[in-house]
Amino acid sequence: MSLLEVNDLKITYQTPDSEVHAVNNASFSIEEGDNYGLVGESGSGKSTLAKAVLGLLDDNGAVRSGSVTFKGRDLVGLSEEEWRDVRWEEIAYIPQSAMDSLDPVMDVGAQIRQAIHKHKNISKAKANERVAEVFEIVGLDPARTSEYPHEFSGGMRQRVTIAMALALDPDLIIADEPTTGLDVIVQDKIVHKLMEIQEEIDSSLLLITHEVGVVAETCDEVSVLYGGKVMEQGDTFDVFHDPRNPYTMGLKNAFPEVDEFDEQAISIPGSLPDLTEEPTGCVFRNRCPFATEQCESEHPPLVGSGEQVSACYYADKADEMQEQASDPET
Ligand code: ATP
Ligand code: MG
Repeated sequence: MSLLEVNDLKITYQTPDSEVHAVNNASFSIEEGDNYGLVGESGSGKSTLAKAVLGLLDDNGAVRSGSVTFKGRDLVGLSEEEWRDVRWEEIAYIPQSAMDSLDPVMDVGAQIRQAIHKHKNISKAKANERVAEVFEIVGLDPARTSEYPHEFSGGMRQRVTIAMALALDPDLIIADEPTTGLDVIVQDKIVHKLMEIQEEIDSSLLLITHEVGVVAETCDEVSVLYGGKVMEQGDTFDVFHDPRNPYTMGLKNAFPEVDEFDEQAISIPGSLPDLTEEPTGCVFRNRCPFATEQCESEHPPLVGSGEQVSACYYADKADEMQEQASDPET
């Protein structure tokens, strides 16, 4: 049994004049102790998936079908009461832009203590002890717990949000874009800190990012999302060194530092499909240089050998696609 299993999840948002099909039959699973990456460009449905796993979808969002199980327990449809035991204690969440959402008028120690006290009935002294412990784990000076968010740099504020996530010793940490908005050196430090922590406290990590380089460095396995669909999935090294899906090829080539390859970048002009209509055909077909008539029929199923699977009718011709894409004459 996997720690987390997301199975065939469909999520829509109702807006005044349409329905947004944000996640379309996505499945992935995280094994205990693993670092799992969800990568895709802006609007591909990453945060929606994370929020659905935590039962925190916006009010106009709904899981239309599919399931989310954590340690074998179905999470979709839990009552708020039941969620209280799962959130933070079992699954901790570092939301997108968390470091900018800290309460400016409360010292950071008090904010972490407040999060602890929402779930655990322990003394203030014990909570303070835990705050100091998690400060140390994330590499912050425990003497600074009584300082306010503005007294910390961006990278340090992000460490505070990680410390908060660790406070109740969760089994899974979901971090949504934890490095976005930080400069490259600080990004690197945060990524390494997350890795260290994950090993030290033996938790699993679901890392959400639009940066292939961060996933390549951090995650054992990855799902590449596009238009709310999983386009490719598997061992991170395999997926980015030997992509079987034209979207992954394009995404990887946009981050050349991932590999020492000297192929010409596939440009992926265009923008995400219109999600106000239920996708028909391959969601990437309008931007794909290899699309054919077949791609208009139905979104291709995930197929592949072993663990690496790709949603492309031509996945078995991936080598030719890569070659063609790297040949300037074509
Ligand atoms: P980013 O990298 O920009 O954070 P993302 O991959 O996290 O993007 P989501 O935030 O999950 O993407 O959004 C997926 C789709 O759902 C987008 O088309 C977005 O506009 C839409 N969406 C998200 N939240 C809502 C909402 N509350 N109401 C309507 N549409 C929404
Ligand atoms: Mg997001």
